[in-house]
This record gives sequence, structure tokens and C-alpha cells, in this order.
Amino acid sequence: MAAERRGRLRTRAGSPEPLERLRIAVPSKGRLREPAIELIHDAGLGPETPGDRALAFPCRNAPVEALLVRAEDIPEYVQDGVVDCGITGLDIVRERALDVTELVLLGFGACSLEAAVQSESPVRSLGDLRGGRVATSFPRLARDLLPGDVELVDVSGSVELAPRLGLADAIVDLVSSGSTLRTNGLRSIGNLLDSEAVLIGPPEPRDDALQLAGVFRSVVDARGARYLMLNAPEESLEEICSLVPGSRAPSVLPLAEPGMVAVHSVVPAQDVWRLLPALEAAGASSILLVPLERMLA
Ligand code: AMP
Repeated sequence: MAAERRGRLRTRAGSPEPLERLRIAVPSKGRLREPAIELIHDAGLGPETPGDRALAFPCRNAPVEALLVRAEDIPEYVQDGVVDCGITGLDIVRERALDVTELVLLGFGACSLEAAVQSESPVRSLGDLRGGRVATSFPRLARDLLPGDVELVDVSGSVELAPRLGLADAIVDLVSSGSTLRTNGLRSIGNLLDSEAVLIGPPEPRDDALQLAGVFRSVVDARGARYLMLNAPEESLEEICSLVPGSRAPSVLPLAEPGMVAVHSVVPAQDVWRLLPALEAAGASSILLVPLERMLA
């Protein structure tokens, strides 16, 4: 009854059972916002398109409501039960170190937390930073992941400027392409953490949060794979099968044309660029490559 008053109950179409909507926190701005909404879309939840100033949006196809909040605040919202799960950066989750569970990595927002020094610095490795000063907005991760004794200078923005301003000998910051480092005359000396977007929940997530994690995983896995179909002469089959990578043995189907077979397989998207010419050279023809929507093991 209390939950009903808070407006958290909804009846699924055709069902007399009221369902408590799953509340998922989504970054309200920044580089994780759009890919997070796209993932919810690709998972088939039917999110209503949020306006720039929206604070929340419902989903048409599932009893799910998305709340738009700052990526940095999401671990706290999840820990405190304000939302049932949330999408944010792994770096943020590890830095906050709150009581939350990482449910599934989401394959976007890839970056790494790296230590960097000015190009002309004599410092070559993380070990050389011992006794030095390091500017960062990730003090916990820097303390935990840098070797030895360093003095941390806590900064919240424009971390790359700190060495030039004489505030620190090095920085620890997020890097994706490395171009910001180069533009600011900095050189990486080591990777502390690989990060990407992650779905987090409380230590004991609701069943529907676990189900959503499974759906997200099937979308993320499908994005990294392609369905390959080709025709080949039977005598090329052994060579073609040896070229085709992937989790399962390919399906081989006879064709109406004598001596010809069709080969179907799921292959990693990243292998396609080198695989197709090799298959053609081995005698494959009528090669089709199609995207997948979901992949469940
Ligand atoms: P934003 O809200 O745009 O500052 O992005 C916040 C999150 O995006 C970070 O916590 C990371 O998880 C992720 N990210 C991906 N690439 C980068 C990058 N080059 N710099 C900062 N954050 C990044």
C-alpha cells in the first residue's frame, strides 16, 4: 500500500498483478548518457526519448523507470536503495568503493586510468614516482594502485595542467585515445585500471535487476559478434571450417547444387576484416554477414 502511494506500482498490460517498477539510474549527462539510453533501447525496453532537461523517463515495454542522475552519484543512489540498479563508469564505482555489486560490464565508455608525466620528465615507470607528488581526482584508486609512497594532490578538474603549474610531478587520470595527454605535453607511464560502463546493483539485487543484467549481457555479447553465411565447394570445407573462429562448430547445410554446401557460423566482429578475404581465397562465395540482436549462451 505504501509503495502504491509512492507511485511505484504498475499493472502490466493484461495482468491483474501489480508490479513494482524497477528503477534504474542512468547518467544525466556526459559521454555515458546516450550509449546507456541506446542500450536500454536495444534491450527492447522501449524507453521514451527523454528531453534534455528530463529527470526521468518510463519504458513502454517493461515495468522499468529510468532516473537521470549524475554518473558520480549513481553508486550512492544504488547503495542507499534510492534506485534498484544503475549504469555508470567502473572507475567511478571502484573510486567510491561503496556497498554495491558489479552486475555486468556494458562494452561502452572504455577508457583507462593512467599515470602520466610531462614528456621531458626523467620518470619512466610507476616505481619512479616514489616520494613524488601526484595530482588526481581519483585519490582512492591512486593510493591503492600506485606503488610506494606518493603525496596525493586532490584536484577536481583540468588535472592535466597540474604538472605544468608545478602542483605535481605526475597525474593520474582517465585516458581513452591519449590525445588529451599528448596535447598537454604529457606521456603515460602506466595503466592502473581498465574501465568501461557497468551495471551495478545492491549486494542482494532484486530478481528483475538480475534479469535485466542478463538481457544487457545478451545485447553486449551480440554487439561483439556477426552471423556469417557463405557457400563453398565441399572440397574447400575443411579449410573454411579451420578459418572460421567462434564459440561453436559451424553449421554445414547441403545446397541444391551438387558438391556445394552452405556454412553458417557466429564470428567475433573484430575478426571480420581479416576473415572475409581469407574465406574468399579459400573458395567461399555468396558471403553474407549480418548483425545479431541477442546472444544467449
Ligand atoms: P563524463 O560524464 O563525460 O565526464 O564521463 C564520465 C565517465 O565516462 C568516466 O567516469 C568514464 O567511465 C567514462 N570515460 C570514457 N572515456 C573517458 C575519457 N577519455 N575521459 C573521461 N571519462 C571517460
